[in-house]
Amino acid sequence: MIDRRKFTFGAAAFGLGALAGPLEAKVRRKPARMLDVVVLGAGASGLQAAWMLEQQGLKVKVLEGRNRVGGRIATLMDQPGYPEMGFNSMADGYGRGFDAAERAGVELVEVGARYRLGKPPMLWLNGKPMTREDWAKFPGNPFPDALKTTMPGELVAKLIGQKNRLADWTAWNDPASAKLDISLRDFLKAQGLSDEAIRLGNDVSPYYGTTAADVSALMLEYNDGFVKAQFAAGPRSMAVKGGNIKLAEGMAKLLKGDVLLGKEVIAITSSATSATVYCRDGSQFTARKVVCSLPFSTLRKVKILPGLKGPQAQAVASLPYQPLSMVFLTATAPFWDEDGLAPGMWTDGMAGNLMPQRFGASPDEITGFIAQARGGLANTWDAMGRDAVFAAVTGAIETMRPSTKGKLRAAEFFSWKNEGFNLGDWAYFGPGHISGFVNHMAKPAGRVHFCGEHTATGARGLEGAFESAERVALEVLGA
Ligand SMILES: Cc1cc2nc3c(=O)[nH]c(=O)nc-3n(C[C@H](O)[C@H](O)[C@H](O)COP(=O)(O)OP(=O)(O)OC[C@H]3O[C@@H](n4cnc5c(N)ncnc54)[C@H](O)[C@@H]3O)c2cc1C
Repeated sequence: MIDRRKFTFGAAAFGLGALAGPLEAKVRRKPARMLDVVVLGAGASGLQAAWMLEQQGLKVKVLEGRNRVGGRIATLMDQPGYPEMGFNSMADGYGRGFDAAERAGVELVEVGARYRLGKPPMLWLNGKPMTREDWAKFPGNPFPDALKTTMPGELVAKLIGQKNRLADWTAWNDPASAKLDISLRDFLKAQGLSDEAIRLGNDVSPYYGTTAADVSALMLEYNDGFVKAQFAAGPRSMAVKGGNIKLAEGMAKLLKGDVLLGKEVIAITSSATSATVYCRDGSQFTARKVVCSLPFSTLRKVKILPGLKGPQAQAVASLPYQPLSMVFLTATAPFWDEDGLAPGMWTDGMAGNLMPQRFGASPDEITGFIAQARGGLANTWDAMGRDAVFAAVTGAIETMRPSTKGKLRAAEFFSWKNEGFNLGDWAYFGPGHISGFVNHMAKPAGRVHFCGEHTATGARGLEGAFESAERVALEVLGA
């Protein structure tokens, strides 16, 4: 402890006597400024919220559990074509995304056309290939007559698009829409689909949940409205040249305050005057406010005091996150030229959905393949582990397509369920969740404010993450 008398004496001895008094007073009058805001999570929403708050003069620090920024923006920078394991592309209506890219100093390039190049992917059922024309005539096609030419991977989006019950998609979370919050399965049944049609059209490779019973049709109608609004804005799909992760890295560089990595948050407490965040490494951070962008899948492991209540507590405890896993493969020779079939394969087996990646200097070049498993197949892959998945995926493809033998090399396995700081791909609403808790999820609790894609109400995906950051920044500034 510093003895005041000795300090004054010491200062005088060094000829600083005249300054000692004013300096001491200055120190007493101006204690180190408390942080205004601690932002939890350095994904798109956390970085955007931190930047917006700093622009208003607030002192902000960002805590991130991983040893990198970006969260669900995740690029494999050591693989050809920089394959994306997370966020893929922005549509033409992503105003906030375009702004963020410009600020971050990254170049956006059109990639949509690259997905549509070459022969369209074929359907491989029970190991046998089919074009769209073959499928339309196939005796085992269980779809209703009007949908015979619809490929299984297109069925749900098409039907939801045709039969969307929302007159105004932005009213999806209005209590008046609550009666629409039924399962996708019930919705598809009402359209006359058989169990087999639902299995093939959804459950083999679901975007949400593991079966059509898991997901709310109302959420898909909201999604459909958002997608149609994007098409109305324009046809492009934009991605960051050289890898989307550069967007997050560029956004982090714009911040004046620290972005601390390796800071796993384990508890948050709020008092009348401040909030304190506790990390697993023993560090603590106190601020006037906390902005929490953590997905509810990981937030449910964080102790919050005073505790969350009612529908908000229910949402944190139960909001589901999608199982989705991927294998990145490279081809040592163009096997598709050898057998003359489309390089892309939508399968009902272990290989999942095999998608060619065309991210070389010329769009004609195939830089690799992503095999994607969603829902039940992702769970199966995750239980098997990397090496067994590599063998099973390449083995399944070789059995179907002998031309691939020895030419497909599995290079990376990525499971969103196994990513400890996400525990799943994107949030989705089960039947009854929208009416049950959606409008309570992002309510401030004590000094904690919530953002993240799961709390967006007017946009989806990355644009939703940015939208939620705007909302939370305004909330904090207004509080
Ligand atoms: C495979 C895939 C494809 C996608 N494709 C698209 C697309 O084409 N277009 C589109 O618009 N969107 C797409 N998205 C969605 C988009 O990537 C996300 O909506 C967006 O990146 C989410 O940002 P966020 O900030 O809400 O969450 P996150 O990015 O998940 O950020 C949350 C952060 O919190 C951190 N964190 C979690 N727990 C803790 C803890 N306890 N302590 C400290 N830190 C913690 C995480 O590490 C993470 O960095 C895709 C997502 C995936 C996974």
